Amino acid sequence: MEHIFNFSAGPAVLPVEVLQQARDEMLDWHGSGMSVLEMSHRGKEFMSIAAKVEADLRELIGIPGNYKVLFLSGGASSQFAMVPMNLLRGKKSASYVNTGEWSKKAIKEAKRYCIVNIAASSEDANFTCVPPQDTWNIDPDAAYLHYTPNETIGGVEFNWIPDLTHLNAEVPLVADISSTFMSRPLDITRFGLIYAGAQKNFGPAGLTVVIVREDLLGTTLAGTPTMFDYKIHADNDSMYNTPPTYPMYIAGLVLEWLKKKGGLAAMEQINIAKAKLLYDMLDTTDFYHCPVARSDRSRMNVPFTLKDSALDDAFLKQAKSRGLIQLKGHRSVGGMRASIYNAMPLEGVAVLVEFMKEFASNHA
Ligand code: PMP
Repeated sequence: MEHIFNFSAGPAVLPVEVLQQARDEMLDWHGSGMSVLEMSHRGKEFMSIAAKVEADLRELIGIPGNYKVLFLSGGASSQFAMVPMNLLRGKKSASYVNTGEWSKKAIKEAKRYCIVNIAASSEDANFTCVPPQDTWNIDPDAAYLHYTPNETIGGVEFNWIPDLTHLNAEVPLVADISSTFMSRPLDITRFGLIYAGAQKNFGPAGLTVVIVREDLLGTTLAGTPTMFDYKIHADNDSMYNTPPTYPMYIAGLVLEWLKKKGGLAAMEQINIAKAKLLYDMLDTTDFYHCPVARSDRSRMNVPFTLKDSALDDAFLKQAKSRGLIQLKGHRSVGGMRASIYNAMPLEGVAVLVEFMKEFASNHA
């Protein structure tokens, strides 16, 4: 098979070792005579897989006992509704920070359930930066503050965690951490709740992880469907209904791979090195342009344009012929985007950088 480097924003590249192990275990998991695909979620085999996934996740992040870990389906998009349904807790409003396309979707959905106070927005700057916290205007009566630590489409990443300790009342911090989850260490104690679709750094599409502080659970909006109630899932160890069993199994293999790599701190260093390689090249040429403010550039999703968009098709075609695929930017913004998640090796970024230099010199 020709070697491919897949820069998709998600579903995205998985570690090859994980895919090989899944292949080896496909027909007979650990002598059970069954594929994981065929197991009852309540059988002892799958229960052992699920318990290990949670234990490894808790160990890698360092999740304290007063936080619940939920393995759900429905994608991060369902969380846009589940968060207000569960966390308003009798309050009428919630604060949101708007840094791009995914923030906007979360805001739009929240408006169905509460008054949304936009604490800060970088819309005026075309979503190319993170608004500094001293410019934020947080509603002190807000039930929570929601932000998007990494905008997957815009390539804008917070390299800091908002600090809400100055507010009189406790306003829990809520984050859609879909595209940075497991790419760097995470101090979960700073958050009331985080959620992530798995299909970037964690595993296949179909699995959504929610980590939530226990004391925030138990009050839902009237009319909340049972399946949208975090407490129901927490009380049933994510087995109220059939969880996404195979994606959980793959996520478990990804966690084992991460542990072998040295955990989140080690992964972060590799991700810093990969991002630096790509951004350094982008900054030394005027053939390519990255629109994002330097301090707020994503380590995971690197958007860039060519100085002449008439060359876009040729760029993508030639990249593909070198095995560099899925580099087209999101349809809403155009240009290019290289997503360089955990499973993208440094070598893949190096090959991309060499190709980009060559393409630029051939079309100067
Ligand atoms: N939030 C962010 C930051 C995302 O990147 C995505 C998916 N790319 C979503 C939400 C939506 O996730 P899903 O498709 O799993 O609903």
